[in-house]
Amino acid sequence: MEKLLNELSSKCNSAYKLNCDTETDIEIPENLKRKSDLGLPNISEIDLLRHFTNLSRKNYSLSTCFYPLGSCTMKHNPLINERIAKNRAFNLIHPYQPTETMQGILKIIYNLERDLCEISGMNCFSLQQAAGAHGEFTGLLVIAKYFKSIGQKRIHIIVPDSAHGTNSASAVMAGFNVIPLKSNPDGSISILKLKKILTPDVAGIMLTVPNTLGVFEKNILEISKIVHKNGSLLYYDGANLNAIMGIVKPGDMGFDVMHINLHKTFSAPHGGGGPGSGPVGVKTFLEPFLPVPRIKKKKSKFVLDYEKHNSIGRVKAFFGNFPIILKAYVYIKSLGAKGLKNASEQAVLNANYMLSKFKNKITVPAGDKCMHEFVLSLKSLLKNNIKTVDIAKRLLDYGYYSPTIYFPLIVEEAVMIEPTETESKKTLDLFINIFNNILFEEMSKKPHKIKEAPVNTPLKRLNEIEAARKPVLKW
Ligand SMILES: *Cc1c(COP(=O)(O)O)cnc(C)c1O
Repeated sequence: MEKLLNELSSKCNSAYKLNCDTETDIEIPENLKRKSDLGLPNISEIDLLRHFTNLSRKNYSLSTCFYPLGSCTMKHNPLINERIAKNRAFNLIHPYQPTETMQGILKIIYNLERDLCEISGMNCFSLQQAAGAHGEFTGLLVIAKYFKSIGQKRIHIIVPDSAHGTNSASAVMAGFNVIPLKSNPDGSISILKLKKILTPDVAGIMLTVPNTLGVFEKNILEISKIVHKNGSLLYYDGANLNAIMGIVKPGDMGFDVMHINLHKTFSAPHGGGGPGSGPVGVKTFLEPFLPVPRIKKKKSKFVLDYEKHNSIGRVKAFFGNFPIILKAYVYIKSLGAKGLKNASEQAVLNANYMLSKFKNKITVPAGDKCMHEFVLSLKSLLKNNIKTVDIAKRLLDYGYYSPTIYFPLIVEEAVMIEPTETESKKTLDLFINIFNNILFEEMSKKPHKIKEAPVNTPLKRLNEIEAARKPVLKW
C-alpha cells in the first residue's frame, strides 16, 4: 500500500511530497489569519472532549453498527482511502492551476475512466457528475442530444415501476415524458407489455439490473434487441454494481448509456445526501455528446479537451468530486480484478445467506434466490395494529439502522435488505435473530414495545408528518 500511496501522490502536486503524517499543520498565509478573538466558550479540555465524544455517539454510522439499507450499499470504507484522500499532495491542489502542474490527478481520472470501462463494458466515461441522480440526468441529456443530432423526434422514456424514484425524476428534468411500465410480480420486465408501448417516438428505457427486488433480468438480451430494433436506446442504472462487477458487463448486455455510483459500489462514505460521484459511461457513438472537458492523453501529457461541438456542456465545476474519484481509484487498485469479483461474490453470498434464514417464515415476492439484496413483504405477518415502519423503529432500539422500507413500491409492506460484502456471518446472524425476535415474539407478546419505539435513541419517536411539514433545520 505504501508503494501505491507513493505512486499516486508523487506526481500529483509537485509542491508537496508524500507526507504520511497528514495531521501536520497547514500554513495559513498571514493576510488570511483571523485578526480578532473567535470568542469561544472558556471550558476545560475534559469538558470539550466529552462534548465532542458524546456528540459523535449520537451519530449512527458504519463504524458503530450494521447498516442493511437496501439499494444504498452501506459497506465498510477502507480507512486507507480516507488517509490518501486527506493527503496534502491531493487536497492542496487548486483547480485553476495550470494542467502541467496537476498531471497526477489528471492521470488518476484518466486511469479510473479506463478501469470503469473495463468493469462495465462501456467505451468512455465522464466523471463530473456529483451523484447517481446527476448521472441519470446527464445520461438522459446525452440521449436527447443524440436524437436531436440525427434529426429524430423522440420524446418518451420508459421507466418500469420497479425503478429507483430518481429515474423518472431525471427523465422529466431532462425534458422527456415518462411512460411507466408495470413489472411482473418478481420485478422482471414483461416483454409483451414492453412491445406494446415501444412506439417510434420512444427515446429509451431505463433499467436496473439486477432489479430492485434483487433479481437478475434473465431476458435482458432479448429486451435489448427489441429496444434497439425500435431505434431506442438502453439506459443502465448502475448505482449498485456490486452484484455483477467482475462477472458480467452492462456493455455486453447491450446497454448504450449508464451511470455508476462510485459512493456505493466503490466505497466512499455516504448517506444523508452525499457527497457522491455518479460517472456516466457511454458507447463510442455517444462520446461526442459527453460533458466537456474530456481528459485526453497527448503523447505522454494529459490535457483538457474542450473541442467537442456536440457536447451537452459542463454539468459540474472542474473535475467533479475529486476525493470520491480518488477513493474509488484506490479501492479498485487495492482490490484488483480478482478482488472486485470476489467482493461481488461475497455480496451475493451474504444476501442469499440472510434470505435463506427468512424465506420459510416471511413472504419473499421474488422467489428464493437473490443477487446482492432481497425484498421481504411483511404484509401477512403484521398484527396488533403494527406497521412495517414500527418494526423499522424497533430495530433502532437494538442498535441497528433499519433496512429500506416501503420500497420498491410494487411490494406491500416491503423491507429491502442489503448486507453488502463486508459483513461477517456473526453480524448477519445477530441481525437475523433480532429481526425474527421482533416479528415472531414481540409482535404478539409485547406489541406496545414496537409501537413506542425507539426508546433507546437520543431522540424518541418523531412526529414524521410534522417533521416533514415544519422541519426545524437549525437551533
Ligand atoms: C442510490 C441510487 C440512485 C441514486 O443515487 P444518488 O447518488 O443518491 O443520487 C439511483 N438508482 C439506484 C438503483 C440507487 O440505488
